[in-house]
Amino acid sequence: MADLKNKVAIVTGGARGIGAAITRELADNGVRVVINYNTSQGPSEKLVQEINDSGGEALAVKGDVSNVEDASQIVEAAVNTFGQLDILVNNAGITRDSTFKKLSEEDWSEVINVNLNSVYNTVSKSLPHLLESESGRIINISSIIGQQGGFGQTNYAAAKAGMIGYTKSLALELARKNITVNAVCPGFIETEMVQEMPEKVLNQIVSSVPVQRLGQAQEIARGVVFLCKDGEYITGQQLNINGGLYM
Ligand code: NAP
Repeated sequence: MADLKNKVAIVTGGARGIGAAITRELADNGVRVVINYNTSQGPSEKLVQEINDSGGEALAVKGDVSNVEDASQIVEAAVNTFGQLDILVNNAGITRDSTFKKLSEEDWSEVINVNLNSVYNTVSKSLPHLLESESGRIINISSIIGQQGGFGQTNYAAAKAGMIGYTKSLALELARKNITVNAVCPGFIETEMVQEMPEKVLNQIVSSVPVQRLGQAQEIARGVVFLCKDGEYITGQQLNINGGLYM
């Protein structure tokens, strides 16, 4: 088991939802965390305060991960402040749901840019530093929708499935460099992203989940920490955390 104390992580979109749970769980394990946010300045500052008050170390950095210059600044801020980078969690994501017939080019591109192209941006800027780490970890938060598809979600499914293919290929390239690359695929998790869905649809989803409930953000965060701590021999994998909805 790797000791995570004093390791340095970047969590994109780390100020709310699943990202905030990942940030907290890493900080609880002694990791110094860079919380990237795009619009959630208030929540990110509050989370930094919460972590610092409980004896941890965190830094909030604004940046749109779909922009390569912003990604570069986030990585620079991490290395300038904490001197190293060991863990990159690509969590930032958006939905712009619509049936394909009605899907605008703008909603297609925005979802691909934020959910998939961002991963190129953050990984390419982080890689020189992760290579210096004794145990680099890249964790991409994909989705069950990238595995089984989703009605009205061609853009989102394409981006999340793309993340899985990217994860496997990069894992092959980096295995000899002591960097593991994995995807975590959540099912339906109780965050603002899911709360935006119509109640009727949500009830239908819950009744189709074998464990009969939505997942909690902390359940995803624990999977991420498991991969960081105990994942030396786990690479190129999809960790499904979905209550048995997709096997
Ligand atoms: P959420 O509550 O809507 O939060 C989305 C996060 O992404 C926010 O922290 C947001 O930051 C960040 N973000 C969005 N655009 C960004 C950008 N351009 N640059 C930087 N950060 C950006 O969603 P969530 O449910 O926590 O989802 C987190 C991840 O899990 C996403 O990748 C999502 O696709 C995936 N996922 C979620 C579920 C689910 O059921 N909730 C299921 C499967 C997969 P700001 O608030 O600062 O803008």
